[in-house]
Amino acid sequence: MSAVRNPNRSPLFRLVTIASAGLGSFVIGLWGLKWTLGNQVVGMPTEVAGAVIAALCALAASIAAMSFFAGVDESAEFVFKETNFDKLTGLLARPAMVGKIAEAACATGRSGKPIFLIDVDIDRFKQINDAIGYCQGDALIRAFTARLTAALPKGVVMGRIGAGEFAILYPDQLMDGALEALVDRLIEDLMRPYPLPSHVQSVNVSVGVVAMPKDGNDPVALLRRSNLALQSARAGGIGNWAVFHPDMGKVADHRQWVESELHVAFERGDFDLHYQPQLDLMSGNVVGYEALIRWRHPERGMIPPIEFISVAEETGMIAPIGDWVLRKACTDARHLPDDCFVAVNISPVQFMTRDFVGNVARIIQDTGIDPKRLELELTESAMMQDRDRAAEILKQLTAMGLSVAVDDFGTGYSNLAYLIDFSFQKLKIDRSFVSRMETDSNSGAVVSTIVGLSRALGVRTIAEGVETENQATLLRAAGCQVVQGYLFGRPAPLSLDTLRAPAQQAAAIH
Ligand code: C2E
Ligand code: CA
Ligand code: CA
Repeated sequence: MSAVRNPNRSPLFRLVTIASAGLGSFVIGLWGLKWTLGNQVVGMPTEVAGAVIAALCALAASIAAMSFFAGVDESAEFVFKETNFDKLTGLLARPAMVGKIAEAACATGRSGKPIFLIDVDIDRFKQINDAIGYCQGDALIRAFTARLTAALPKGVVMGRIGAGEFAILYPDQLMDGALEALVDRLIEDLMRPYPLPSHVQSVNVSVGVVAMPKDGNDPVALLRRSNLALQSARAGGIGNWAVFHPDMGKVADHRQWVESELHVAFERGDFDLHYQPQLDLMSGNVVGYEALIRWRHPERGMIPPIEFISVAEETGMIAPIGDWVLRKACTDARHLPDDCFVAVNISPVQFMTRDFVGNVARIIQDTGIDPKRLELELTESAMMQDRDRAAEILKQLTAMGLSVAVDDFGTGYSNLAYLIDFSFQKLKIDRSFVSRMETDSNSGAVVSTIVGLSRALGVRTIAEGVETENQATLLRAAGCQVVQGYLFGRPAPLSLDTLRAPAQQAAAIH
């Protein structure tokens, strides 16, 4: 490790130290000469010369000493700040935070009063940073820190422990209300869009919580546990939080395995696409097929997308995998009826890659698919990362003649104003609303509202996850136009069966 150098040592400081030390040496030299050569050297009586030289010597020595000790003090403070505080945010750096966690663990061990360690992480911060540039990334971190600091009371210790990761030590006695409400509020606050100098940036946040002394007292183990809780929260969706549970270690091991295996699996050709039909609710005709990726591992069998898509996004493997999916779906489209489109899921990370539009155009050209037969399914979060850029990309995609559906609609952002700026052709009502429609009148109201909104915007509505005839009836009554779900057909490999099954199922609509 290289020594920490203090850039605050000014040239003047160095000059004073060197000059006074030099003067001291010079005087000592003169003194030496005077003793050897007598009065000829300085031309004054020995006692006077001796006194002057002694005074100069003392002065030089005291200046040098003062300057030296001031420097030591200042350097010590500098080194302390350098190693304990994060330069960008002024918060504690990771090593200092580990120290604070150790102190908190000791205190809570003695008093028995719980202290929570809360791990807050910006999802896919690395990708955001790469996409918007480090300067804007720094501005985002500063704005995020300001909001975090403002949201927490005095006495709460905070540190930046990773690029987009923060740790908070929150004593129970400082908590105003329940932990649940506090974390919910914090996440909501931190996920409000950030106005940066160049654009408005949205982020998703995941949070993991451990409680001391219940979950241990070793600071490194506690940090790992809060991070495991965080990973588990992230796997559950956007803006989630979770409290540590010992089983989470197993999930993390599985995730690690997925990460190490993904590249090999892709090269080996483990992946395939299954297709699930989408039907027009009025006519009962199949109008399109959604392509859903499948990973069949030679030893472990089927691994569902929910277990590997987020890992692929974090490791960058989503770029080749996403490209492969789009290319294969466009190629497979020639085996689907001419009047059917193919819908392809696009990850937010893929959507934000530099040449996304160019890539889509190349694939359309290479495969010869009619762009009218291609639909891209994008989530709200993909569009909200950088609204201006997203709006521009959507405009270009629409101009190319393909269509865009907003996937999982209703689960992301409550602010609908942004919809006006975006060009898309379909809203896809999330399965969570469809599955609760029969029992929960609020879900029914949400569905009707989304259909009304679509009409106002002049776009179509599709409902996913339709499993019962009752749901289909309610959706038709609400004015929804297209449906997809196990009631009409499960995702299946491309074969004659895939194409035939929905025709038999279509009767279910009427
Ligand atoms: P999604 O885009 O919301 O896809 C719909 C998911 O719901 C699919 O799960 C589908 O099999 C399932 N599903 C369809 N009908 C029903 C139903 O009636 N009942 C129930 N319970 N489930 C139904 P799957 O295939 O496991 O995919 C999960 C998620 O993984 C997808 O959610 C999508 O976000 C992602 N995904 C799948 N394929 C791809 C892909 O090629 N690229 C990307 N980026 N993401 C993908
Ligand atoms: Ca989808
Ligand atoms: Ca969904």
